[in-house]
Amino acid sequence: MGNVVKYFDVKNLGCASCAAKMEHEIQKMEEVQFVSIDIITKVMKIKYNKNKENESDFLKRIEASMKKIEHDVYIELTDENKNKNKNKTEGKNKNKTEGKDKTVSENFFIKDLKKREKLKEIAIIATSLILLLISFVPYFKPYSFIICIVSYFLVGTPVLMKTARNIKSKNFFDENLLMTIATVVAIVIGEYHEAVAVMVFYRIGELLQQMALDNSKDSINSLLSIKPDEARLLCETENGAQIIPRTKKKPVEHIKVKDVIQIYPGERIPLDGFVISGKSRIDVSSITGESMPVDVEPGDEVLSGCVNQTGVLNVEVSKTSKDSTASRILDLVMNASHKKSNAEKFITKFARYYTPAVISAAILIAAVPTFLFKMPAEVWIYRALIFIVISCPCALVLSVPLCYFGAIGTASKNGIIIKGSQYIEALEKSKIAVFDKTGTLTKGDFEIVSIKPANLGFSEKKLSKDDILMYAAYAEEKSNHPIAISIKKEFLKNNKIESFAKKHEEFPGGGVVSEFEFGEITVGNYELMKKRGIKNITDTIKDKNNTVVFVAIDKNYVGSIMLSDKPKPNAKFAIEEIKKAGIKEIYMLTGDRKSEAEYIGESIGIKKENIYSNLRPEHKLEIYEEIKEKNGKEKGKGGRDESAIFIGDGINDAPALVRSDVGITMGTVGSDAAIEASDIVILNDDLTKIPKSIHISKFTKKLVYQNIIISLGIKFIVMILGITGYATIWESVFADVGVTIIAVINAQRILFYKPKPYIKDKIITDTACNDKCCSTN
Ligand code: ADP
Ligand code: MG
Repeated sequence: MGNVVKYFDVKNLGCASCAAKMEHEIQKMEEVQFVSIDIITKVMKIKYNKNKENESDFLKRIEASMKKIEHDVYIELTDENKNKNKNKTEGKNKNKTEGKDKTVSENFFIKDLKKREKLKEIAIIATSLILLLISFVPYFKPYSFIICIVSYFLVGTPVLMKTARNIKSKNFFDENLLMTIATVVAIVIGEYHEAVAVMVFYRIGELLQQMALDNSKDSINSLLSIKPDEARLLCETENGAQIIPRTKKKPVEHIKVKDVIQIYPGERIPLDGFVISGKSRIDVSSITGESMPVDVEPGDEVLSGCVNQTGVLNVEVSKTSKDSTASRILDLVMNASHKKSNAEKFITKFARYYTPAVISAAILIAAVPTFLFKMPAEVWIYRALIFIVISCPCALVLSVPLCYFGAIGTASKNGIIIKGSQYIEALEKSKIAVFDKTGTLTKGDFEIVSIKPANLGFSEKKLSKDDILMYAAYAEEKSNHPIAISIKKEFLKNNKIESFAKKHEEFPGGGVVSEFEFGEITVGNYELMKKRGIKNITDTIKDKNNTVVFVAIDKNYVGSIMLSDKPKPNAKFAIEEIKKAGIKEIYMLTGDRKSEAEYIGESIGIKKENIYSNLRPEHKLEIYEEIKEKNGKEKGKGGRDESAIFIGDGINDAPALVRSDVGITMGTVGSDAAIEASDIVILNDDLTKIPKSIHISKFTKKLVYQNIIISLGIKFIVMILGITGYATIWESVFADVGVTIIAVINAQRILFYKPKPYIKDKIITDTACNDKCCSTN
């Protein structure tokens, strides 16, 4: 039956390291190809082979293996999945709004419930803490044991109950058991104050962890609000024609391509489309991270997720809800936490061994001195307890993914979609950046400089310039290459396309060949002409700084079109910032000719020897790999430890984007191929997002390292102090809960991080590259 990917909410998932254990268990099942449980969103992504077995039996088996680790856990299809199913059955069930209201009130109820539960939890912890403090007051000294026991049961009952339940289901090795052993043994040896303290702080730690998780989740959830549920339908299409006028709100999933929707000022744009009437200013910050609003008028494209600010817009829908920008961004971000970084993988593996190792050490500490050397048992049992209290690796297991999760959120707030933690890691290690030229470093908005008709081989006559432009525009009709778009734009100013190709073939990095009733037209560069056997090309054009395309009809060369493209206004500035961010070498690869490539490259600060021209798409990948190899070898590292970024506009760079360590796509929200192929998508053409993403990755790594060092370092020190008798249970409580809190709070810093370069809100003018275009502060 093939493979299926499904998402499930994992309910009642308690500890972070349990999630890792569950993954480990589920992965063992034969039909499971991939499983990942995100401990922050508590969503499980699972890819499995759907074959013979009844699906619900399979899911039951999955659930059972999870229950082995945590007794109360169960799974439920996520809302996304449910919505998909709901849409399928739609039509029979028209009364959708009713269902929707119900979910809204359900959500509200759940939120309210959670808030009340939290308050109850705080009240219990606070009461126990106060009781603990009272037990130290001299006046209550005679009753201190009783007070402590009351406080202990008040705060510890849920933990004790969970341990009892786990023991009953024969899966008891978790943090609840550790806390139970530590506190019960402490009471038995008379350290009842400590027993209460361990329980109270354990619960405080749990509560704060939960709050930190909620906080990080909220930052991603605020992204969810970029996708409106409904759109105001103005005109509906039937059989491709807009005929049925209506004005009513409809769920976005029901709106079809070519339907016309209306958006009032202050409303979020629900679907991608083109403005057909109305003028307005739109706030694009939630999509591109750009704070400058954009003016739109009829003919302009608008993307879903942006906010309409000033006027009423009528928009012809160009993409369905599923394919619209807002949904795609959400999909990418929500999936990102399932592509784990090496640091995360290491931590989960480490956690698997850490706890048993520390527990074994505790047993040895309690047993060896007492039985072998006849030393006092209470002393060594007490020291062993210190180990048990710090044997939970929660601080690490939680705080490392929290850093990456936050980083993905922060990046998306800046208009950078990172498709997985692993790419943040690779970005951080990057030392080389390899750029494509057209559309990436340049605007890809070609201006026609001149048209040169050629002597026709078969007659004395030449075609007119207008004819050459016309044939070129006809041939490029279906192409989306920047050159094609520019040629068509120029032609359509005064004309209409009247002949359409019977057959169209695109040669990426070369040009196009289109077949018409009257013959075959070839438009492209010299290499393509050579390949197609077109002769007598006289490249008479002197200006070496422009791009030239040749036009041939039925293999006869008829003339050439010279076009000029300019670097993006901030390209030079961005290249400088990329270098400042730690990239040592910058390369440019292009399918364009040498002279033009060097002219553009050098003008924005790329060394001549790092510019490669006349490349076909497959060569780009070869050169990318060569560059990586060369740089790695020179530094004696074999190129393994350093990664190289490839940045392309996705039209013909897909092979290199896919195979590179980090593939970044520029400004191609609309292009499926680009979004598929790349690891990072930059939602507008802004090259300065590249240094920004590098800075985010560096800051994330700093936080991850700090967290690892703090958590392991403090635990290790307390273990040494404990074994030598210098630390008490109080210190170990700090080493456990205190450290978790520090690490979790530290991880939250990524949510407030503002990556460099800070660019003032200034409209970047359309002039050629010039340092003054972008000012920094
Ligand atoms: P880059 O590698 O800089 O992005 P491309 O690989 O897209 O450039 O294109 C390389 C060259 O191939 C262009 O300079 C142009 O000469 C030619 N070319 C590619 N596609 C087309 C097209 N659709 N029409 C005409 N020429 C094209
Ligand atoms: Mg390109």
